[in-house]
Amino acid sequence: MTPVVSAQKICKSFGRLDVLKGIDLEVHEREVLCLIGPSGSGKSTLLRCINHLEKIDAGRLYVDGVLVGYRQRGDKLHELRENEVAEQRKDIGMVFQRFNLFPHMTALENVTEAPIQVRKEPKAKARQRAMELLDRVGLADKAKNYPAQLSGGQQQRVAIARALAMEPKLMLFDEPTSALDPELVGDVLAVMRQLAKDGMTMVVVTHEMQFAKEVADTVVFMDGGVAVETGPAAQVIGNPQHERTKAFLARVL
Ligand code: ADP
Ligand code: MG
Repeated sequence: MTPVVSAQKICKSFGRLDVLKGIDLEVHEREVLCLIGPSGSGKSTLLRCINHLEKIDAGRLYVDGVLVGYRQRGDKLHELRENEVAEQRKDIGMVFQRFNLFPHMTALENVTEAPIQVRKEPKAKARQRAMELLDRVGLADKAKNYPAQLSGGQQQRVAIARALAMEPKLMLFDEPTSALDPELVGDVLAVMRQLAKDGMTMVVVTHEMQFAKEVADTVVFMDGGVAVETGPAAQVIGNPQHERTKAFLARVL
């Protein structure tokens, strides 16, 4: 079966800073992959490459079997136009550390915005689905609230519902609970856990080792732009093989 994400030796630099140094990665349908590693190791950059928010400098990146950002003719690669890249991005949902909700829209409007504007769904249908999604993240009673009237954890759950409204085949999470007060983290992780159970394909950057251990199928430990250790969650977190993984886990566990 075609992997949902296939990264082959991808490299990314910012000026003279080599941030990704030949990353190989595969994510299969219904798989949950957690990316762990110290700050600055390239985790966010890798997610942003998968979502075409950054262009890779070398290697090949496929999402659902389709080359990201380029069209291949013979041996030559041609860059896609911005609208073609946007089209590729439509099937990928992304949730950031900061919730990035539209502040002037209610929770419901935040969730219906893309389906109505981008997918041209009829408003009634988009609203009905948005209500179902808000219910799924435990916020049906907050549909009419504005972001400022919601806690960080509630805002993050609205952000998850908003991403799901586009029916993505892949969800990317970049430290979705790092900006939350500790008592709000659990509700967001519970929603993600349920999403994983429902079969969503997910790549999650997280410092929540317990979550990674329980929910991830695969864990990748990144350090210095390299995937140092990749394997089943229980192995990488419970019985790491590399010194660098051991040192990192000793600091965070
Ligand atoms: P992580 O998410 O693992 O903390 P990042 O992918 O955010 O790591 O960053 C990896 C490195 O790339 C850091 O040194 C960071 O400063 C640098 N970096 C990230 N984005 C940019 C950018 N747009 N321009 C320049 N440097 C960047
Ligand atoms: Mg980051």
